[in-house]
Amino acid sequence: MSDRQTLLRQIPSIDRLLAAAPLQSLTGDCPHVLLREAAQQAVAELRQALLDASSDTPDVAPETVAARAAELAKIAVRPSLRRVINITGTLLHTNLGRAPLCATALQAVNDVSSGYSNLEYDLDAGKRGKRFTHVEQLICRLTGAEAAHVVNNNAGAVLLALSALAGGKKALVSRGELIEIGGSFRIPDIMAAGGTHMVEVGTTNKTHLEDYRRAIDADTSLILKVHTSNYRVLGFTEAVTGTELAELAHKHGLPVLEDLGSGLLLDLTPFGLPREPTVREVLANNIDLVTFSGDKLLGGPQAGIIVGRKEIVDQLRKHPMARALRLDKMTLAALEATLQLYLDPDKAFRELPTLRLLATSADTLKERCEQLLPRFTATLGDLADITMTKATAPVGGGALPLAEMSGWVLVCQPRSLSLNRLAGNLRQAEVPVIGRIQDDQLYIDPRTLAIEDEELLLQTLKDALTP
Ligand SMILES: *Cc1c(COP(=O)(O)O)cnc(C)c1O
Repeated sequence: MSDRQTLLRQIPSIDRLLAAAPLQSLTGDCPHVLLREAAQQAVAELRQALLDASSDTPDVAPETVAARAAELAKIAVRPSLRRVINITGTLLHTNLGRAPLCATALQAVNDVSSGYSNLEYDLDAGKRGKRFTHVEQLICRLTGAEAAHVVNNNAGAVLLALSALAGGKKALVSRGELIEIGGSFRIPDIMAAGGTHMVEVGTTNKTHLEDYRRAIDADTSLILKVHTSNYRVLGFTEAVTGTELAELAHKHGLPVLEDLGSGLLLDLTPFGLPREPTVREVLANNIDLVTFSGDKLLGGPQAGIIVGRKEIVDQLRKHPMARALRLDKMTLAALEATLQLYLDPDKAFRELPTLRLLATSADTLKERCEQLLPRFTATLGDLADITMTKATAPVGGGALPLAEMSGWVLVCQPRSLSLNRLAGNLRQAEVPVIGRIQDDQLYIDPRTLAIEDEELLLQTLKDALTP
């Protein structure tokens, strides 16, 4: 104990630590105030360790304490929002930022936002313009819609449509479509927030056209149809098609709003995915207004896209909420570049990461695993058993709920570390790695692993597996 008393008196001063090489080398990258705080924190840790008789006697040498302070300072200046390596195989992982952007979208963001732009300036007329016009024609061309508008996200699109078309009035919705997405988007809540009086029709598993017909009265202003994006009701079910719903609604002078959720511009069945109607097909059912997300299967930035009849879209644009939900220039730039690729579907499948990864075949992923396996075994063989197996992964993002993409994964079974420890170490890495634990093993899905990140993943795994 008296040893420790002596050491306590030898704790280096803050100024001494700030002058030591580890902190000096950070002066260009880290503000002085954070260096000082890091030094204070390192000293506090050291004092705590010295007072805790059960711990090993810590090193009080200034260089050692300053090195610890430098670690803390680096953590303090690290951005909170950072890139991660996704080895879950889930393409549209909402927690991991959904769709990765294509190269032309990134370039467009850079071009448009590093200086000034014609965001709301009509270059032909030399006067004030409207921001949504930059993407409207493109969206109309790709979906066959009369008019289009874009807002912050699909939740915003639904909220705007409900407020503008059914605020203070009744809207009908099937009990089978009262969805919750991601914990905070719930149809009854969004209807209440839009000032709409929700009228539930039918039952959880079966809703008939007659249920809608009986519920229509003088106060009804809208029929809402919602894509059950993240679940399916199986067994004895019945739902009314968009075409039937539109026919009934129009007979009563009412519009139909369909919240499509993900919204597809191209058919994905050639890649083994379930048949889902495209936005164009949904509109062809005479649906008046359709909303969908920019960052789900579309593969663009977070946005809510609204397409449909011009008269109705115009009504939405005039609503005060349209201003509150407007897109910013970075998103518009990325969205326009993403949509441009769709004009040539082959190009879209080549250059849009979401579509390219979705279309990657199980055989290609197997070959990739076969190439990775010897490399991973050579580097990690002493620390873990590495094998490969067939596996599926969900698409994610509330898109194609039951669809599983088939593929292959590397399987890592640590020798002397629990999987929880391993997963924790991977999350704390300089570039965090987010993996999938299945059957008490770590699955490494090459589908979402960029080739450029393979070596970094390997080194991160090695560090994370080292006890
Ligand atoms: C995902 C989803 C939403 C929410 O879309 P965001 O773009 O995340 O706001 C709304 N409705 C359905 C049916 C969805 O699948």
